[in-house]
Amino acid sequence: MIDFNDFPFDIDDVVEQQRANAVKFHHVYCPLHNKRMILETDGPHGPYYICPIFYCDMKIGAHPNGKPKGRPANYITRNARIEAHKWFDRLYNRASGNDPTLDRDTAYAFLAAAMGISKRECHIANFNKDECDRVIQICKPARSTVAVA
Ligand SMILES: [Zn+2]
Repeated sequence: MIDFNDFPFDIDDVVEQQRANAVKFHHVYCPLHNKRMILETDGPHGPYYICPIFYCDMKIGAHPNGKPKGRPANYITRNARIEAHKWFDRLYNRASGNDPTLDRDTAYAFLAAAMGISKRECHIANFNKDECDRVIQICKPARSTVAVA
């Protein structure tokens, strides 16, 4: 039987090491300044990366293991991504009264095809402002023609 109280390390050290590894293995650079971005662990929506340049607005959310959720973006692009996601999510969100047979996976396939990119590339968190505008253009009308039964 393993005595977990008798391990030769402290759990806080392990957490600290994991955090250090996350920073070490997820190199995220500010697209404006080409500076290595800093992982903040206490954001309102979880961890996120910020640019070390104090006036720079570039940010990207991160998973608990430090993996960035997409490409760093400024305020305008981040808002465009939120708006794009809002319209995209309505394609498969049952609560919005749409066809419940259209699942998230199918919705992504539809969006990828409409944008002329592969499903693998189709991540709103990677999109710039123009791409987000296209998502909205595609998903707004699709809501009534494709998604709603
Ligand atoms: Zn920057």
